Amino acid sequence: IPQERIRNFCIIAHIDHGKSTLADRLLEFTGTISQREMKEQVLDRMDIERERGITIKAQAVRMIYKADDGLEYLLNLIDTPGHVDFNYEVSRSLAACEGALLVVDATQGIEAQTLANTYLALEHNLEIIPVINKIDLPSAHPEEVKKEIEEVIGLPADDALLISAKEGIGIKEVLEAVVKKIPAPKGSEDDPLRALIFDSLYDSYKGAIAFVRVMEGSIKPGQTIKMMSTGKTFLVTEVGIFSPDMETTDCLRAGEVGYVVAGIKNVKDTRVGDTITDAERPAQNPLPGYKKAVPMVFSGMYPADGEDYEKLKEALEKLQLNDAALYFEPETSAALGFGFRCGFLGLLHMEIIQERLEREYDINMITTAPSVVYKIKKTDGEEIMVDNPTNFPDPSKIEYIEEPFVEAQIMLPTEYVGPVMELCQDKRGIFKDMQYINEKRVILRYHMPLLEIIYDFFDQLKSRTRGYASLDYEFIGYFKSDLCKVDILVNGEIVDALSFIVHKDKAYYRARQIVEKLKEVIPRQLFEIPIQAAIGGRIIARETIKALRKNVLAKCYGGDVTRKKKLLEKQKEGKKRMRQFGKVELPQEAFMSVLKMG
Ligand code: GDP
Ligand code: MG
Repeated sequence: IPQERIRNFCIIAHIDHGKSTLADRLLEFTGTISQREMKEQVLDRMDIERERGITIKAQAVRMIYKADDGLEYLLNLIDTPGHVDFNYEVSRSLAACEGALLVVDATQGIEAQTLANTYLALEHNLEIIPVINKIDLPSAHPEEVKKEIEEVIGLPADDALLISAKEGIGIKEVLEAVVKKIPAPKGSEDDPLRALIFDSLYDSYKGAIAFVRVMEGSIKPGQTIKMMSTGKTFLVTEVGIFSPDMETTDCLRAGEVGYVVAGIKNVKDTRVGDTITDAERPAQNPLPGYKKAVPMVFSGMYPADGEDYEKLKEALEKLQLNDAALYFEPETSAALGFGFRCGFLGLLHMEIIQERLEREYDINMITTAPSVVYKIKKTDGEEIMVDNPTNFPDPSKIEYIEEPFVEAQIMLPTEYVGPVMELCQDKRGIFKDMQYINEKRVILRYHMPLLEIIYDFFDQLKSRTRGYASLDYEFIGYFKSDLCKVDILVNGEIVDALSFIVHKDKAYYRARQIVEKLKEVIPRQLFEIPIQAAIGGRIIARETIKALRKNVLAKCYGGDVTRKKKLLEKQKEGKKRMRQFGKVELPQEAFMSVLKMG
């Protein structure tokens, strides 16, 4: 199929608006997948993705469509991740396309991710085709949604397609629009090779497989390729397409989408956004927009059972094989023992990794409170980046601290504006503006510390708006903040895993919460245990766990020898799940309950 009959496109949508369902229908309609093979949502391959209904990694699929003009077209659908954590990946997937289907739920209207993704698509000069989905539902109001698309996004929506992905209504019209409206790719096959990596996959036999869009030139087995960000070279052993499973072909030419196998051992060498060129006849410049994935959120991960350390290490290594954005290094905590400091793109990324470690690798973990990366200017002039509260310098040595800020975009029904503004205020948000989508819904824009967002912002937003708000955010830079580190002391000793960073205005309140919680969950001992919170050397909160009364002990430890033995054995078992702290043992629940408090 010649280049002028290739169409590369993606589907952009807010979560749950029907992206995956539409993709399924397109595959079905074009006969790419027979109904028999059709599992729902073919593109979402990971279990977690299916369960959470989100796409974590981009996927691509190739379809052949015979259009009304009697000609066959080659359509490449590139699915994009649907969450802010992966915005960079989304932007690379978009860069691999010439057009996008903008799917909007006819009962919901545009939401935060609709807008964010549309802006990304416009930045890449994509042809955008508005598609209003779920018109089968009685509550659908497609005319209003059209108006929103025109007024808020500024796209003509008069001829927006009205479809039901679920019922299979309007699918053919979507395919016709793809063929007629989205331009064919332009690059020349004779130019030096430039192929954009938009995703990668690790295979235990083939190594790291790069998913690419060839912009110019061509790529085939036997060719030596060069990664333009690192200069590393590899010999191509296989290229192919997704139909939808990987299928070998002779060659990938300018305009085409497919995969490249080249004995690459590590996904770190198939970085999303990097440009592949020919080693012998290299392109002059890489494709624009490459960025190295930078972790934004960090936390400590410790095996609940110290004996699982090696298992955790191996699991992290395996996960990293497929996830170049996952960062980890060994870390030791006085309280939690041996574990790892891990870095993630965002909160969702962190939760996914945690969930996979627990589910797929069956490891019980203790995870410390998530932290962002702080920029600290010390009094001696040195500037350091710190992602772990434990490594904060002494307050007397700090000149100032900067923390990462994001611009948050919240869409919500007007009746919740009050409570949401209150919440944003409470989360140290700086109001930017408010825009009406229509009489019933608005967009609020705030600048807000990332730290506040990764605590429980989203949950609170949902509960204050009964689930009717949507959120999107984007990193905007580092700004000075009045932050401090609070240490928690049990029996006079700092429990490093519980130290946290907080704004000075909230330090006292958070400290009290934690101290009170610990008092509840730490079992009483033979002696009195003070629980304190401190900033530097200054105690800001204190509770005391009273000593057990003598007669209780007498009852326990008296009695005959076998009973004592049994008790000792029981204790030994219990020890696994306890963390010795000075003379005090902290049960795992104590950590969990405090760390979960957010
Ligand atoms: P995604 O998050 O954008 O990929 O959305 P999904 O494709 O997973 O769809 C979210 C939910 O909406 C699922 O329960 C679908 O069955 C449902 N859905 C998708 N399209 C339609 C439609 O046209 N009509 C109705 N009634 N439901 C739909
Ligand atoms: Mg989906």
